[in-house]
Amino acid sequence: MNNEIQILILDDDPDDTLIISDILRETDDREYVISVAHNPAGAFACLNNSTFDVILCDYRLGATNGIDFINDMQAQNIHVPVILMTGVTDKAIDEEALRVGASDFLNKSNISSALLDKAIRYAIANAARQNLLFTVLSNVESAVCIMDGKGKPQLWNSKFQDVSSGLKDARHNDDNVDSFVADTLESEGVLKVADKVFEKNISDLDDGRSVMTLHDVSSHIEALREREIAETKSAYLAKHCSLTGVANRLGFNEKIKQEIENGQRFQLLNLDLNKFKDVNDLFGHETGDRLLCKVTKRLKSCCQKGDYVTRIGGDEFVVIQRLADDEFQSTRLAECFQRVLEREFVINDHKLHIGVSIGISAYPDQGLTAETLLSNADIAMYRAKANTEGCIQFFDTELDNAIRERRSLIADLTEAVERKDIDVFFQPLADVKTQKILGFEALARWTHPIKGPISPDIFIELAEENGLIEKIGNIVMRKACENAVAWPYPVKVAINVSGVQIRHTDILNDVKTALFQSGLPAHRLELEVTESVLLDDFDYALHVLRGLKNMGLSLAMDDFGTGHSSLSSLISFPFDKLKIDRSFVTDLDCQQRLKNVVTTCIGLGKNLNMRMVAEGVERQAHIDFLLEQDCQEMQGFMIGRPMTNADVHDYLNFGNGHAIIDKPKRAEHAARA
Ligand code: C2E
Ligand code: MG
Ligand code: MG
Repeated sequence: MNNEIQILILDDDPDDTLIISDILRETDDREYVISVAHNPAGAFACLNNSTFDVILCDYRLGATNGIDFINDMQAQNIHVPVILMTGVTDKAIDEEALRVGASDFLNKSNISSALLDKAIRYAIANAARQNLLFTVLSNVESAVCIMDGKGKPQLWNSKFQDVSSGLKDARHNDDNVDSFVADTLESEGVLKVADKVFEKNISDLDDGRSVMTLHDVSSHIEALREREIAETKSAYLAKHCSLTGVANRLGFNEKIKQEIENGQRFQLLNLDLNKFKDVNDLFGHETGDRLLCKVTKRLKSCCQKGDYVTRIGGDEFVVIQRLADDEFQSTRLAECFQRVLEREFVINDHKLHIGVSIGISAYPDQGLTAETLLSNADIAMYRAKANTEGCIQFFDTELDNAIRERRSLIADLTEAVERKDIDVFFQPLADVKTQKILGFEALARWTHPIKGPISPDIFIELAEENGLIEKIGNIVMRKACENAVAWPYPVKVAINVSGVQIRHTDILNDVKTALFQSGLPAHRLELEVTESVLLDDFDYALHVLRGLKNMGLSLAMDDFGTGHSSLSSLISFPFDKLKIDRSFVTDLDCQQRLKNVVTTCIGLGKNLNMRMVAEGVERQAHIDFLLEQDCQEMQGFMIGRPMTNADVHDYLNFGNGHAIIDKPKRAEHAARA
């Protein structure tokens, strides 16, 4: 093992250097290699050229002293243990020496070789330990500083030094560290230095000192910030329409909730672009999309502060418009929308004219919840669309409640149809002369869970307007055919078919399926259509009716006399029967004019070779008149009211296939039922 120890003696007194050198040489088992300097400059020259294990330094060095020398060494980042030596004993200097990091402070007057040797060994051992500590400290991730019981920094690593000097290229300066530590101890939360963020942690040690650790969390913060931005961005996208950039339904819901919480007056404008569907159908979705973007731009151009445009569906825009405290309603924005949307749009060289219908509902007078306001604005818009009065309509409580009622009925009917909750009743038709039952007319029945039975005059019209008639028609047709197959007499079953079914559905196929599935022969099925089917597309209706007739079933024109068809169109259709509307029959015994109409109708039917049916036969006098006029068939309460399928069986069996007309028989039958 190499026992050589490099010693540098710094003393301005040449005699003292000699004495110390001699004392050192007295130590036998150690080899001290001694260098000498007489002033700090000389010492630094030595330190720059060679490596030393220990410096023996005189406290008094002419104009300067050993403590300054130690400080200068540290400033130059030279870490060699220094043993200070002095001729006088001074407690204050002693303490100062320890504070700046001197390894020992010896009195020259009673120095011995053993004492010096021991001091040197301790200094080297301590320096080694300190070096180790420095190595550890300078290699930890964090900036670390050890403070005494008063919070004064004692030891810190280079990272701490960097942070305390503001992460700039500051020269080593203890004052920086002192004031930085004092500030940092006072500060709360994370610490920001230049563009970095540090998390501060202070641990108290058992001996009263404490350790401050600054952990660089900038990258975490950056990652958090990025995540926050990403989250904000995806939250934004969820609430906005990706095409037009305005709020979507989710965004609208949030905004209106805020407005309601604000409690300030506002109104909802529900906009429906008049011909948007046509644009989509004719020119494609790309043109449709571009149109929506342009529409949004024009809508926005009308808006002032507080107005908020949203797109809650295909071409459905809803705008929230703030009102002044004393303002109940306003057309300002709606009129502007109307103006800008009436102007021509040019997209992909297509010149487009659309226009808009606007319904308005105001908060709080016309609704306190988003749902009510939207539904009221929607109802008003619906009226604006159907109305010729103008394309801007305010919600009108009285007018629109009827619409609301209708809408809720549509919703309930839709549900009932989905559940196939439509019943079928049957009303008998009899031969006027023989009173034999010829068949039954199937009549749809719907019982609303709260409102009770709803007249078919109401719900059939609703179904026709709302695309439900095909489903209802099929339910009735299927049930009617299935029931009729099992009747005790093979009489006909007549089913009402709406004009909508003739025009828009595959009625031929529906009828074929119903016959096939039930096993009912086609000649037992009769379809009743009204004159209105002739009005729209004459040729197409003719084609469908001929197709039906070719299947072997018979056709009746229902409610004859109430429609507007011309006689020539009547001749072109292959009807087997004409059913004279009950409005002519029920009152005919008291009105001669009605008698004349019915007589004329019966004559017309005869001449066209069609069987005639009189509806609304309620009294014996009606039957007498029909007999007189030679009308073949009759239907009405006098013959039988609409009844359930079970009652049809009972009715047919009781009358042996004949109508139960006279009063006592009817009473007896009713009592049995
Ligand atoms: P409709 O086809 O003319 O049916 C005859 C209507 O007159 C029935 O009304 C029936 O109850 C009523 N009625 C029958 N005899 C008398 C009478 O002596 N006096 C009076 N005052 N009324 C009588 P309902 O069942 O209310 O049906 C009304 C209309 O609803 C039907 O008129 C028909 O146009 C339509 N409808 C009923 N069921 C269906 C269906 O399944 N499909 C289609 N498309 N329409 C249906
Ligand atoms: Mg009918
Ligand atoms: Mg009728």
